[in-house]
Amino acid sequence: MQQFAQFNPQARILLGPGPSNVNPRVLNAMAAPMLGHLDPDYVGLMEEIKKLLRIVFQTANDVTFPVSGTGSAGMESALANLIEEGDEAVVGVNGVFGARAAECAERMGARVHRVEAEWGRIVEPEKIEAALKSCQRPKLVAVVHAETSTGVLQPVEEIAQMAHRYGALMVLDAVTSLACIPVPIDRWQIDACYSCTQKGISAPPGLSPFTLSERAMAVIRGRRTKCRSWYLDVSMIAQYWGAERAYHHTAPISMNYALYEALRIVVEEGLEARWQRHRRNAAALQAGVAAMGLKFVAQEGHRLPQLTAVQAPAGIDEAAIRTALLRTYNMEIGAGLGPFKGKVWRIGLMGESSQRNNVVLVLNALEQLLSAAGIEIARGRAQAAADAVYAQSA
Ligand SMILES: *Cc1c(COP(=O)(O)O)cnc(C)c1O
Repeated sequence: MQQFAQFNPQARILLGPGPSNVNPRVLNAMAAPMLGHLDPDYVGLMEEIKKLLRIVFQTANDVTFPVSGTGSAGMESALANLIEEGDEAVVGVNGVFGARAAECAERMGARVHRVEAEWGRIVEPEKIEAALKSCQRPKLVAVVHAETSTGVLQPVEEIAQMAHRYGALMVLDAVTSLACIPVPIDRWQIDACYSCTQKGISAPPGLSPFTLSERAMAVIRGRRTKCRSWYLDVSMIAQYWGAERAYHHTAPISMNYALYEALRIVVEEGLEARWQRHRRNAAALQAGVAAMGLKFVAQEGHRLPQLTAVQAPAGIDEAAIRTALLRTYNMEIGAGLGPFKGKVWRIGLMGESSQRNNVVLVLNALEQLLSAAGIEIARGRAQAAADAVYAQSA
């Protein structure tokens, strides 16, 4: 009989664009006994998860629950439920994930107005407004809060106000922002927002925290046609996550155990403290990167704390550096996507992975590997720059 070896992965240091490192408490939670998806104890857990998600999303939205699937399922759910054939959608596109949202909206039948910006730059609010003006009846505006392909932090609040002035709903991709930086759903008046479990929340991938405003729910209740996706139809799923407990699909039980424990950790730390930790470690990393003479992809003043995209020096085999990081340092960083393939590294400091020891490790590892590859770098300057940031903010 053919033999299959047991799979024993190493515990890596995950400093890519997600998944981030997972706290052992979360992995242990997943090993708890299975319950039925309508078991009263499991139903009790669902209620606690909804409360925790409302805290993290800073919202009072009744319809707040994890979509079964990764961040892209949340994206598809927001767009599938809000869009009907022929609706006009204004979508900001300055990287892979804005492009994915535009593509997804098109597949749902929308007439999409793409508002493009160069990769590495924000989508200018004035350009969104121009697109809204050109619409007859804009249904929604969608932007990506944290564009993981470039490391750009998109201004949101002004665009949400604009969307509402033109009678449109505001959709926000918070897949890489939730639990890393503030995502104040109610204050910004976001109508639909989706995230993921494997980035800022630091659970395994598999669920998409999701929230809809009352305004969005009114639009969904008033649809002339059925949602194109059966699996993601919120009008049915809300009945499972609401008082009716009507079976729709079997919830990913163990993933919800993991999400609950990961959210408990987020709330124990406190949102303010968590955002502050992300800012501090990112400031140290970015100071170290700059001290090595490396250039950033994202425009100044709009750089994410949880993901730093760095231009690989000319003439360097960037993939070989990533392989060496993995083999020698047991550490993963991300490659460039699309036009940045072969040119960019993406260093994530998300959730559990945002730690001072990881910052120091990745800076020293890069310094050593780049020096060995013939790039002239003054040794020790990167860590000194990072240490100076920690000394300031101690
Ligand atoms: C990762 C990511 C997604 C997709 O999430 P998956 O969990 O990979 O499906 C969507 N948007 C942004 C901004 C992301 O970073």
